[in-house]
Amino acid sequence: MHRQRRTRIIATLGPASNTFEMIKKLSEAGADVFRLNMSHGEHKDASALYNTVREVEKATGRPIGVLADLQGPKLRVGEFTDGSIDLEVGQTFILDMNDEPGDQSRVQLPHPEIYEAVEPKTELLLNDGKIRLLIEKVQEDKITTTVTVGGELSNRKGVNVPSAILPLAALTEKDKGDLAFALDLGVDWVALSFVQRPEDVQEARDIIAGRASIMAKIEKPSAVHAIDEIIALSDGVMVARGDMGVEMPMEQVPPKQKKIIRHARRAGIPAVVATQMLESMITAPVPTRAEVSDVANAVFDGADAIMLSAESAAGEYPEEAVATMNRVALSIEGEPSYRRMLNRDETMPEATTADAISAAAKQVAKTIEAEAIVCYTGSGSTALRASRERPQAPLLVLTPNIGTARRLALVWGLNCVYSQDAVNFQDMIDKACNICHEYKYAGVDDRIVIMAGMPFGTPGKTNVLRISRVQDYHVKV
Ligand code: PEP
Repeated sequence: MHRQRRTRIIATLGPASNTFEMIKKLSEAGADVFRLNMSHGEHKDASALYNTVREVEKATGRPIGVLADLQGPKLRVGEFTDGSIDLEVGQTFILDMNDEPGDQSRVQLPHPEIYEAVEPKTELLLNDGKIRLLIEKVQEDKITTTVTVGGELSNRKGVNVPSAILPLAALTEKDKGDLAFALDLGVDWVALSFVQRPEDVQEARDIIAGRASIMAKIEKPSAVHAIDEIIALSDGVMVARGDMGVEMPMEQVPPKQKKIIRHARRAGIPAVVATQMLESMITAPVPTRAEVSDVANAVFDGADAIMLSAESAAGEYPEEAVATMNRVALSIEGEPSYRRMLNRDETMPEATTADAISAAAKQVAKTIEAEAIVCYTGSGSTALRASRERPQAPLLVLTPNIGTARRLALVWGLNCVYSQDAVNFQDMIDKACNICHEYKYAGVDDRIVIMAGMPFGTPGKTNVLRISRVQDYHVKV
């Protein structure tokens, strides 16, 4: 149960990881949260995966988070008579609303919102940015372009319009159906794709109404520009580098990654780094040096979690990919320079008792070399503030709310234990010492630091900081 690693690992589930045995292996190798990608598969597949994760959770005794990632308003061209065409640089190419199969001169683009939002000189990127079209003329149902970067374009390839905010609803009809399904299932997190503006998050928040935490995927330039407003409305953010690397020049992705992580930490919400982290491990049992370096740098950046996509969902080496992330993260976290980086990005506590106690707990634990900080929390909000401090001592979170334990599974350094709330002050100490001993954070005579709120069980009341020593009798409680 005791994970030494602070950076969390999210593994996407799919055909390569859809059995109890494999999901258990991934959990044991280090996966803390599993992602259901709603862009693929049917509800019955996602439902089976969810239930299997819960069985694994029961078998391992460690709360596991489940994240449902909604597809969002993905734009696509229509189909071609021959399945694909070859676009040549300099040729004219037309996108229109005509649903007949396309050819060398035109194809359907069935999204009226694009026709409203673009103008001459706007750039359209197709097929993951491999093809570029420059708009010459815009009519009500027809866009005339010149090909600036050519190549093969096949049926239903994606279209990106980086420079425009499109008048698209945050949630498509498919997303709404998937969201209702995911909430019924009981997922802990919902990820929103292609967030363009803070209002998109607010719209989802109104529908979700507290039934799951909300992760805004940052992939559009407009979302990067409004990052603080989006963070203020979100419970977490994901640096979705796949589409971000299409929506902006790829060399701008690393600084955006650092900025998003920094701003999320300042606000005290988790940041996830995603996509192509160990891409070559889809078909190889070992990663490239560059991939190891990428994972290491995300850890150095202070990310709460790092994510596997196709590597664990459809690759040949899902377990090895999780084990690689685990090894790299542990190794980097053991470097003195890692702590220096975390301290460099430290932000001041806010004027709240939860922040005052969290900052004090970090300092006290350091001064007395405590073995662990134990945080009692109901909603999880105090644990988030404690994590924001990035203390050196391990953080153990005790919560009587299983939903809180699961949601916090992707937050830096939080080891959650589902446990009854303390009934009085002595019980608070006894439980904390007992669980620290049981989970091998502390031995008899070791000191721990406890954060809690009195009266017990009252949300938003963190007001106690206690140093305790594990005693013989705690071990036998
Ligand atoms: C991404 O674009 O990086 C991402 C995580 O989203 P998806 O996997 O849905 O493309």
